[in-house]
Amino acid sequence: MAPMHIQDRVYDASIADPEGFWNHQAESVFWHREPMRAFQKGKKTLKSGVTHDHWSWFPGGEISTTYNCVDRHVKDGNGENVAICWDSPVTGLKEQYTYQQLLEEVETLAGVLREEGVKKGDVVLIYMPMIPAALFAMLAIARLGAIHAVVFGGFSPAALAQRMEASRPRAIMTASCGIEGNKGPMGYKRLIEEALQKSSFKPEKTIVWQREQLRWEPVMKENGQRNWQRLVKSAKNRGLKAEAVPVGSDDGLYIIYTSGTTGLPKGVVRTAGGHAVGLNFSIKYLFGVHGPGDVMFTASDIGWVVGHSYIVYAPLLAGATTVLFEGKPVGTPDASTFWRIIEEYKVTTMFTAPTALRAIRREDGDNDYFEKIYGERGGLRTLRALFLAGERSEPSIVQMYQKLLERHCAGGALVVDNWWSSESGSPISGIALSAAAGQDFSSGHRHKPLLIKPGSAGKAMPGFDVRVVDDEGKELKRGEMGNIVMGIPLAPTAFTTLWEDEERFYRSYLKRFNGKWIDTGDAGMIDEEGYISIMSRADDVINVAAHRFSTGAIEQAITTHPDIAEAAVVGIPDALKGHLPFAFITLSMHHHPHPAVPNDMLFKEVQKLVREQIGAIASLGGIIQGKGMIPKTRSGKTLRRVLRELIENATHGEMDKEVVIPSTIEDREAVEVARAKVKEYFRVKGKDLHKAIEVRAKL
Ligand code: AMP
Repeated sequence: MAPMHIQDRVYDASIADPEGFWNHQAESVFWHREPMRAFQKGKKTLKSGVTHDHWSWFPGGEISTTYNCVDRHVKDGNGENVAICWDSPVTGLKEQYTYQQLLEEVETLAGVLREEGVKKGDVVLIYMPMIPAALFAMLAIARLGAIHAVVFGGFSPAALAQRMEASRPRAIMTASCGIEGNKGPMGYKRLIEEALQKSSFKPEKTIVWQREQLRWEPVMKENGQRNWQRLVKSAKNRGLKAEAVPVGSDDGLYIIYTSGTTGLPKGVVRTAGGHAVGLNFSIKYLFGVHGPGDVMFTASDIGWVVGHSYIVYAPLLAGATTVLFEGKPVGTPDASTFWRIIEEYKVTTMFTAPTALRAIRREDGDNDYFEKIYGERGGLRTLRALFLAGERSEPSIVQMYQKLLERHCAGGALVVDNWWSSESGSPISGIALSAAAGQDFSSGHRHKPLLIKPGSAGKAMPGFDVRVVDDEGKELKRGEMGNIVMGIPLAPTAFTTLWEDEERFYRSYLKRFNGKWIDTGDAGMIDEEGYISIMSRADDVINVAAHRFSTGAIEQAITTHPDIAEAAVVGIPDALKGHLPFAFITLSMHHHPHPAVPNDMLFKEVQKLVREQIGAIASLGGIIQGKGMIPKTRSGKTLRRVLRELIENATHGEMDKEVVIPSTIEDREAVEVARAKVKEYFRVKGKDLHKAIEVRAKL
């Protein structure tokens, strides 16, 4: 038998002895007070009388995340290293901050916040664009031992009010405007004021960072509004600063609301001790980012968990450089922006969502920007890895970028799909780029990573005991598709409860499998070698003639067609089979125009791909083609549910019926484009469709 790969050995050690494993990792961060032990398991009894397992990390320990992210590096003599590179293509602004400068900004702002009444344990809501001040705010709040709740800047007043009511913040930190793609500045004043009006809970203070692109006028002091820069200036004149306040390991560092495609958003709580240890481990072990000289570019938003972990906390815990990018993959100004950033900042590690790469593929189908401009002049040679997460990466996109990386980036560069969630705080699965013997990552020693299998999100990461079970919670055999669940405890970065709502924590995650497993809500499988494939949200599994198919797998088959840039599959009701898969497809740019009904040849080619790769039983009930009609959340997740409702309504002849649109939607227009396409499709095909459904109903 071949010797076990180091990633497998490290994983086994973490599951067999969590105490020993994480105690060792805890030595890599600074504790104001050493924890008594790594891990403690107990029971919690809910008001309803239900008792369930509870666990906590590093009990007895006291820690300051900001101290670990900032002060520690300055004390270690790395104050001159660059902590943050800010790049804002639409405003044309760029700024850099060394760790020393970051410390000055953060300790001053923390002083300001203390004067404004923020104390340890308070919640402060952040509603900010992607500017350095947003990072100063997160770190300053954490410095006081307070808890931040970052809400994606640009969310509607209703969505913001909901989160305000749930988190009851003492203050809001915001800016006068955000820059949304190339659309020009979006004023935040109206959004915040409307949210404050809607919310039954009113924070006392609103601290506003004034941006020159669009100012917040007037700043109404009587309403608790404050000019951020003025407060900081006054504090600097007075030499006002705040020292880092340590908190208990189990105290909250932040609350993050899940993207919530249905229902009220859930407030995931991140605890200070487990987060610092687990994230510091993951950035080194999985991402191969060790410290000075490593430059991480995470093209996400601080409003999402990926942004919290890999724009802000993890690169700073490691003492590396993080690139903060206020732009989009396309349109700011074009599909070459990401590659420009890699060249300009000598990025070693990039992280984005597959949806961003699909957007780039639509605009630059031949990868001219990557290859002919940046690649050929060697501008991308520093890049060692491209991490993808947020939704499923189809093998075609992984393979395409893997080839590009091999030709133009650092030797051995890899595309790494990794799977995780707001709840987990760091990847649950992936391929570790740095696994060194003895779990000592300080040497930066690189081990040859495990083989990548495109379509799989790698293997379970240390501390996450991932299993696949049926609807009764019984474990399935390797290779069988089912519900993906996790054993208790989760790794230290993961949540242990929801903000002030233990009942909901139990109901949402534990109840389904009687407290035995944590339900991830995802469906997929684990193969013989332990590679995990996440195929879809469990809700997106469709039942075709008693066979369960994941929409993700069918989408994957469809997108192997060279002309198709993107696909979203939903179930269309069918009297005979229950559901039939139905696809919405977007062709690559050079294919025009887009009638809703694709031509016969394309239809046949796509059917063939589905038949070959999935099976005849998954044959599509229809295809609609179009552009700009696949609705997404702002974090890039396809809102299949909205498309499914449109299709279901159409089969009942209710083309204009309202559909439920979550507040997290990126572009409402997409829903109307999709509606128009569905109408057009049913106008052309409707009769046949209804006939088919009726005929089957009679059978
Ligand atoms: P969020 O909490 O908003 O980060 O969303 C988490 C969800 O995104 C997961 O439960 C998955 O459904 C999906 N997701 C994240 N990463 C991946 C991935 N690499 N492959 C498939 N789905 C993913």
